[in-house]
Amino acid sequence: MSYARPTIARIAGYTPGEQPKGRRLIKLNTNENPYPPSPMVADALQHFPAERLKLYPVPGADSVREAAAELFGIDSRQILCGNGSDDLLTIALRTFVDQGGGFAYTEPSYSLYPVLADIQGARKIPVALDENFMLPENAAELAAGAALFIMARPNAPTGNSFPKARVAKLCREFAGVVWVDEAYADFANDNCLDLLGQFPNVVVSRTLSKSYSLAGLRLGLACAAPELIAEMDKVRDSYNIDMLTQALATAAIKDSAAMRENVRRIRASREKLCGEMLAMGCDVLPSEANFIFAKPPRPAAEVFQALRERGFLVRYFNLPRISDYIRITIGSEEDMAAFCAVCRELFTAGK
Ligand SMILES: *Cc1c(COP(=O)(O)O)cnc(C)c1O
Repeated sequence: MSYARPTIARIAGYTPGEQPKGRRLIKLNTNENPYPPSPMVADALQHFPAERLKLYPVPGADSVREAAAELFGIDSRQILCGNGSDDLLTIALRTFVDQGGGFAYTEPSYSLYPVLADIQGARKIPVALDENFMLPENAAELAAGAALFIMARPNAPTGNSFPKARVAKLCREFAGVVWVDEAYADFANDNCLDLLGQFPNVVVSRTLSKSYSLAGLRLGLACAAPELIAEMDKVRDSYNIDMLTQALATAAIKDSAAMRENVRRIRASREKLCGEMLAMGCDVLPSEANFIFAKPPRPAAEVFQALRERGFLVRYFNLPRISDYIRITIGSEEDMAAFCAVCRELFTAGK
C-alpha cells in the first residue's frame, strides 16, 4: 500500500551518478569539470550582500537571461532559466505532454528522460539510435503521435553528435516540439542555436553544469521562439532561480572566455585519452563531449570494479546495447595521466 498516486508508486525514480563519501576517489563518473569556474564567479560570491536574501529574487532571472541573450545573439524573450536543465526538462514535459500523451526520446540517451515521462504519466515512445548511435533518418516517422521529442546532442552517454541536417529534417517533419538538449555543446564542433531562426517548434537547452564548472550552482537555459518560452514560463515555479544563483550565473556567462579556456584544455585531454585508449585495444566512440565512451578489451563491469579498487570512479551502465562500455569523464591532465597508467596495467596484464 502506498499513499502516492499509482503512477508514482510503481516507478523507481531516477538514480543520479554516485557522489562518493569517505574514501578518496578520483571522480570521472558524472561529467563534472575538473577546473574551477571563472574568477568572476568567486568575486561575485565574495561580494554578495547576505542581507539582500531577505527579499524574493527577480522572478524571471532577468540578468541571467540578458547575459545569455547577448552571448547567443538572440532576444532575452527567447530564453527561460531553470534550476539546472533537469528543471527545464520537467517543465517541458509538464508544458507539452498531457497525461497519456506521447513523449518521444532517443535511446540510449540520458536516463532521466523516461523517468520524467513516467512521473508525468506520458506514453513513452523510445526512438532507437542506429548501429552507430546516430539519430535515425526517419526519426519523425518513428515518433509520430508524440507531442514532444527530446534528444541530447552531443549524446550522453555515447558522446557522439548527430548531423545537424538530420535534426533540421526532424524539426521540419515532426508535428510536435523538438527539444535539443545541448548540455555538452560547448565541447562540440557545432550547435543547433541557428535552428531557432528556422523552426517555431525547436528548443535548445544549455547548462552551466558542465562547460562552466558550475554543477553545484544549478542553472539551465532553454532557448526557443518567444511563443514557446511564454507557455513554459506559465509552468515554471515563480522563483525557480534563487538570488545568489542569479548573481553568480550572470557573472559566469559574462566571462564565457574563462569557460572556453577550460573547454580548450578538456578537448585536448579528450583527444589524448582517445588516442591512448585506442592504442590499448579499446574501441572508442568519436566524442564531442567532456567524456569518452569506450569498450575495453576486458568485460566492462569487471573493468569498472578494477578501476574503482584502484581509486578511479567511472560510469558503467548495465543496459541493453551499452553494457560493454564504460564512460570516462575527462579530468585534469594529471588525473588522466594516472588513469591511463592504471588502464595500461589492467588491459595489458598477462599479454
Ligand atoms: C548533465 C546533463 C544534464 C543535466 O544538467 P543540469 O543542468 O545539471 O541539470 C542534462 N542533460 C544531459 C544530457 C546531461 O548530461
